[in-house]
Amino acid sequence: MRRYGRTDKKRGRKLFLGLLAVLVLAAGFYAVLPSRLNAPAGGGAVSEGARVSRPAGAPASSAAGAPSQQAPSGDVSITVLGAGDDLIHSRIYKQAQQRAGGKGYDFTPVYARVAGRIRAADVAVVNQETVLAGRVLPPSNYPLFNSPTQVGDALVGAGFDVINHANNHILDMGEKGIRATLDYWDTKPVKVVGAYRSDADLENIRIVTAKGIRTAHIGVTEMTNGRYLPKNSQYRLIYAKDTALIQRLIKKAKSMADVVVVSVHWGTEDTYTLTQSQKTLAQQMVDWGADIIFGNHPHVVQKLTLLTRASDGAKCPVAFALGNFVSAQLYGRNLVSGLLTVTMTKSGRTGKTSYSGMKFTPIVTHYGAGFSGITIYPFSEYTDALAKSHGVRARTKDFSRAFVQKIIDGSVPKQYQELS
Ligand SMILES: [Zn+2]
Repeated sequence: MRRYGRTDKKRGRKLFLGLLAVLVLAAGFYAVLPSRLNAPAGGGAVSEGARVSRPAGAPASSAAGAPSQQAPSGDVSITVLGAGDDLIHSRIYKQAQQRAGGKGYDFTPVYARVAGRIRAADVAVVNQETVLAGRVLPPSNYPLFNSPTQVGDALVGAGFDVINHANNHILDMGEKGIRATLDYWDTKPVKVVGAYRSDADLENIRIVTAKGIRTAHIGVTEMTNGRYLPKNSQYRLIYAKDTALIQRLIKKAKSMADVVVVSVHWGTEDTYTLTQSQKTLAQQMVDWGADIIFGNHPHVVQKLTLLTRASDGAKCPVAFALGNFVSAQLYGRNLVSGLLTVTMTKSGRTGKTSYSGMKFTPIVTHYGAGFSGITIYPFSEYTDALAKSHGVRARTKDFSRAFVQKIIDGSVPKQYQELS
């Protein structure tokens, strides 16, 4: 099994730090050398000039989404990426089974074209729409989904660090499904939010630290398709209507971390129109202390915006819905999605971490005739020739690059779109 996600990301970080140390040593050597040997006045000025090129406390030089870096002033930036619904229809797992030659499943190619972008983020979050109880129950399709655990292997390989299970399908296989899913994730180097083993587990706020910046994660869902945990169940979910609980958990998370990220499952399927509940809860969560909200569930890309926190004026990105990260859905609108990369910068001067930019990378789920070869493409690599060959054109006849761009333009302000 190819495993290269987190380990390589860590290896990459180590390599980067090593190179950085070499560069710093070299720079120090060259800065000192001339002043010692023959430049009593000028030598040191070069390095000093470089050091003060940006005022202390100014936001990191990076525009939204540029590789995170440590700025000379001591500011540190990280990127937090959110993806949409990982919605594993039977066609996706049947193809994965064929690829594996009948022995297990290989989902890696589904994510291969976007994995580089996900691994490049310091912290990456995805909504796993289906339970991964494939070791104890057979895989199944809509309306009661169950997926092979190899889906999780591919997500880890693609670079995800946080998996959200707060969604309307978490109870599709009952408590048995939750238990098997959490047991599987316990063997992986990821944090799971949105489905908890107990009250104590729910209170254990998941933290992922990158470059010394602590990000806290919470998963909330509006609905569980009319299915509920048994009265005596130890398992816990966070429902959107439990606003007192959400407020308390966000405040607790805020006290433990620099950045609070909420994954929330809400809204109405197949519409770009936000519900009043979405709008109200988004503003409430921001006011309680949420810094980034990754919304999902509607299967289409809904509005991306910045909300302002009343207490401190902080700008907080809210993606009301990122669309289907992958699916075998039937219509063009359901195959358009995006990866949202938010840059958060910790000020070396104040120690406070705040939003400093975001980019939305549109993606397209492609399949051929008869739903063959389901794969996610970055929109920047998606050609009109591919769009012409898309199996979805049997139902969405005008599916094209222009069709995709129109959807993105309808929900994502131009300045946040990353199109190349
Ligand atoms: Zn959903």
